[in-house]
Amino acid sequence: MSLILYLDLDSFFVSVERILDPSLRGKPVIVGADPEQGRGVVAACSYEAREYGLHSAMPIKEAYRLCPHGIYLHGHHKEYELFSRAVKRLLEKYTPQIEQASVDEFYMDFSGLKKRYGSMFELAKKMQREVWQKLSLPASVGIGSNKTIAKIGSDYAKPNGITYVLPGMEKEFLAPLPIETLPGVGKVMQQKLNEKGFRIIADIARMTADYFATAFGKAGLNLWEKANGRGSEILIPRGVQKSISKAHTYEKDVIDFTKMESTLFELTAKVCQSLRNLNLQTTVVSVKLRYSDFITVTRDKKVKPTDDDGEIFETVRRLLKQAYSRRVSVRLVGVKLSRFVEYSEQLTLFDEKAAARKRLFRTITKIRDKYGYSSIGFYGF
Ligand SMILES: [Mg+2]
Repeated sequence: MSLILYLDLDSFFVSVERILDPSLRGKPVIVGADPEQGRGVVAACSYEAREYGLHSAMPIKEAYRLCPHGIYLHGHHKEYELFSRAVKRLLEKYTPQIEQASVDEFYMDFSGLKKRYGSMFELAKKMQREVWQKLSLPASVGIGSNKTIAKIGSDYAKPNGITYVLPGMEKEFLAPLPIETLPGVGKVMQQKLNEKGFRIIADIARMTADYFATAFGKAGLNLWEKANGRGSEILIPRGVQKSISKAHTYEKDVIDFTKMESTLFELTAKVCQSLRNLNLQTTVVSVKLRYSDFITVTRDKKVKPTDDDGEIFETVRRLLKQAYSRRVSVRLVGVKLSRFVEYSEQLTLFDEKAAARKRLFRTITKIRDKYGYSSIGFYGF
């Protein structure tokens, strides 16, 4: 069971503006386009402005009509970046497992760390307090078993609150909330759902998956999953390499399956080494095959986060079997790893065997870095 903590700064742009100019406190502040020009939208607004019906992404003209005495600012976007980085640095002290979803939203993975940190609620309070005391930024936190639940929990707690949705309580928590609470339900989708009589999340959850898949396609199925308390648990760190791949072109086209297999074995070991050097784990494995007539086939498979050669090669081998379906010789084979997550040592703290494996891989990597790739070989466990 995953444990995701999501921290979202409350009306972030406005909070920064108030640090730069404390006289803005307690007033309706709007950051966004120039209302005199009348084009563009509200980027952010204070809670005082929200009382007039303002919200982000609203046309600035409409905002001005509703709240003509508000304080309209263009915003100090460089400062927002600086504060955003400061928040991230502060959160990194708690865990290296962070996905920054936007300038003011941070997902953190505390799976398997409950023992170390004790109460997640206390941990969230501590984080929230520290962000406030050190940076004067108010934030809300959601804690849950996946990213969607954590995010909805944080929205639910705004401003300056914490929601902890206990594992197993996801459906009950979501049930009474309006459907537009679910990420992915925009104005159009909301209207479509309303027309069919769906108002609260429970209305969606009690239907069958088939119904939603048929009525609304893939997006509908996704929505149904979320309504039932499920969601992604995988964090995607920003600004890192998106994929690692290696391919080999044969001097003479081959038809021998075993030969392709052994080439892919070596390629797999190489990409895995790069993966571990970057301190990442992969969640998607792909195999590419180019026939002598240049027809190219690729096959992908989603896997649990791993940097383990043995596990990854098993998937590669299966993908190769699927990809090699013609009796035509092959000129190129390749392997690619993508959709990375950051390597988490903590996950294996309580698992002796896994920890030993990791140490072994690290050692192999070190030896190869020093003496070259072919200096050491290993063939599964
Ligand atoms: Mg925010």
